[in-house]
Amino acid sequence: MTIPASSKYVVVGAGIHGLSTAMHLARELTQRGLGSGADIVVLDKSRPGAGASGIACGVVRNNYFQPAMSELMQACVEVWESDPAAYHYNPVGYIALGPQVQESDLTAVYERHQRIGYRSDLYLGEADVDAHMKWLFPDWRAQGVTVCLHEHQGGFAFNQESVDGLLAKCEAEGVRVVSGVEVTGFTSRADDSVSAVETSAGPIEVGEQVVIAPGPWARRFWSLLGLPAAIDIRTQAGDVQQNVPMWTYWNLQEGEITVDPLMFALADGGAPPVIHLDTDAPLYADTGELITDELWGIYYKRDRHGVQGGASPLTVDGDVELDPYPSTTNVDDEFPEMWCAALSHAMSRFEGCRPLYKQARSGGVGSFTADNFPVFDYMRPNVYCVLDSNHGYKMIGVGREVAKVVVGEHSSLLYPFRFERFATGDLHPVSHSPYPWS
Ligand SMILES: Cc1cc2nc3c(=O)[nH]c(=O)nc-3n(C[C@H](O)[C@H](O)[C@H](O)COP(=O)(O)OP(=O)(O)OC[C@H]3O[C@@H](n4cnc5c(N)ncnc54)[C@H](O)[C@@H]3O)c2cc1C
Repeated sequence: MTIPASSKYVVVGAGIHGLSTAMHLARELTQRGLGSGADIVVLDKSRPGAGASGIACGVVRNNYFQPAMSELMQACVEVWESDPAAYHYNPVGYIALGPQVQESDLTAVYERHQRIGYRSDLYLGEADVDAHMKWLFPDWRAQGVTVCLHEHQGGFAFNQESVDGLLAKCEAEGVRVVSGVEVTGFTSRADDSVSAVETSAGPIEVGEQVVIAPGPWARRFWSLLGLPAAIDIRTQAGDVQQNVPMWTYWNLQEGEITVDPLMFALADGGAPPVIHLDTDAPLYADTGELITDELWGIYYKRDRHGVQGGASPLTVDGDVELDPYPSTTNVDDEFPEMWCAALSHAMSRFEGCRPLYKQARSGGVGSFTADNFPVFDYMRPNVYCVLDSNHGYKMIGVGREVAKVVVGEHSSLLYPFRFERFATGDLHPVSHSPYPWS
């Protein structure tokens, strides 16, 4: 694989963030008369979509309790909506359902949606929630649900196809996307800026800036940049937590059942929104065996070959060798039973679906920061890091903001995600959700 000897801009990683950054940067450079896509090279050690972006469930939602996440997501949904065909985006909406403990969080999310102009409705109380869900799906039967946030924007996109759509847009702007070239290190100047990117195919001299968007390989790049494996965090209360690991891993449990996709439809035959259900009602298998009587949650969507989705992730101890994502299923033995039981708990159309569970390539590891929120920041004078803490397939618009920053503008949407927040205590509020990404 040949690489250029030098490039003004080097983007590392051809996932959703690397490609979105490259495409938007090419446009910024062209519009400002500062250059063009030909000034950008994107390097990927495998190929576009080989990382998390190519295996993501593809859910696009704005159920975020944190104001900064919510505002950023609104900008991202704008990008999805700008070209649904190219991004293989299905604007079917998204429904979050929860038990009493989540009422205040979802109400706060809904109220912010109203303020920022994001289209959603809120239903409170078991009877109203049940009536809304039965109106959409007459066989709805989930128990213990007292709050429902129905987002009329968002939905999901097909993972690899949306990466391919971004890739085509990059190439149309003249960006060079090189597969099969691994970044192995950086050559630094005395002021810590990077003068060259070292790769498996030789060095590339950097004219201006480097953008690193490595998805779950964040820890490796963190270490290549000489950044600390553990950090101190000032909490909002003013205490300091010492030596907190900067990176941890969770294993995302996802799977699918093979059914006629059209069996999962709205009462009027329309395409169903993505459903996310959390409840503390006991969960039983269709055989009657108790699976759990603690808070549990699942999400699911209509897919090309059936119904696909996931459940709460599992923590992973120690370091993770991520090379590459598995070609087969990556879930634990209990997941299929639990997920199918939960589908059946939610809607009677899924009763008895366990034998239809498909052992397919699904699930995988995500890499999370010390507070589970992204770090979008310069970590060297000319090295911008897009480290999304696994929030990010839906965040296709982050690249648009990064491109603005790279050409010298301020992004108020990215500012709350600067690394400095750990030292200053300017952290994001935490919700009651059991998921590290809500
Ligand atoms: C199972 C699963 C389901 C998910 N579902 C959702 C979802 O429904 N909605 C959502 O919003 N998010 C979801 N996510 C999270 C989302 O997928 C990621 O946050 C996002 O895709 C990260 O994008 P990225 O561009 O940063 O990284 P990636 O897509 O991982 O791209 C990074 C690229 O960098 C390349 N690379 C790595 N190391 C090197 C190197 N040394 N040199 C050169 N190239 C290198 C890799 O080959 C890879 O192609 C999910 C994640 C997982 C694992």
